[in-house]
Amino acid sequence: MRRKLIAGNWKMHGSLSSNAALLEEIMRWPHLAGDKVEVAVCIPAPYLAQAQQLLGGSALHWGAQDVSEHPSGAFTGEVSAAMLAEFACRYAIVGHSERRTWHKESSDQVARKAAAALNRGVQAIICLGETLVEREAGQTAAVVGAQLAAVLETLSAERMRQTVLAYEPVWAIGTGKTATPEMAQEVHAMLRAQVAAAHGAEVAQGLQILYGGSMKPDNAAQLLAMPDIDGGLIGGAALVAAQFLAIADAAQQA
Ligand code: PEP
Repeated sequence: MRRKLIAGNWKMHGSLSSNAALLEEIMRWPHLAGDKVEVAVCIPAPYLAQAQQLLGGSALHWGAQDVSEHPSGAFTGEVSAAMLAEFACRYAIVGHSERRTWHKESSDQVARKAAAALNRGVQAIICLGETLVEREAGQTAAVVGAQLAAVLETLSAERMRQTVLAYEPVWAIGTGKTATPEMAQEVHAMLRAQVAAAHGAEVAQGLQILYGGSMKPDNAAQLLAMPDIDGGLIGGAALVAAQFLAIADAAQQA
């Protein structure tokens, strides 16, 4: 039985004081140390030391929103997986559509970033998703399938066991539009089947596949009830403790 994972993506939001207040509220969630739902926050890199200090020893996990594909060197502005590991990051998001769009990250590069994170013991949360134009052209399966294929060519079965996928339709991110549970389920099932074909059914059955894209307290329960939706990657609602924890409650009850 897969555990649900509710992961916040804070994007470029926060300050030392607002982070402390938000984390304190999230840490009060009564099911945090339970065995049904894992909760994590992926925060801006400068605040990883703060997270390590405030959350160390708690059941609330933390991670980064990106990682370099390179181990070290002349890569101004980048942060290596070894650096994330020093701050005890459990997760690093890779391939978020905002990075694919604004930083022109290719699927091969995303796969290399995931490998770099995993090589340092940081679990990669690999984001995949189609644009509205691609969905309307009937290309969702081809686009998302190709994004995943690049990952499966790079990561072994063993590495896939430490990986999380997040299906995030680009048209649903930050827009208030969400995929229906059936639309999301269809893609999640397809992704799981693709992993099974590459690395076997056991790896695929153990894989957490999150949905992301305007997941909110009022739609979370229906999405999380679907058999292949194993949690959520939450943007806007992750910045408001009551909303984030309402989604975690929905996961707890799913
Ligand atoms: C995201 O950025 O990963 C995301 C899902 O954002 P939102 O929940 O705001 O759509």
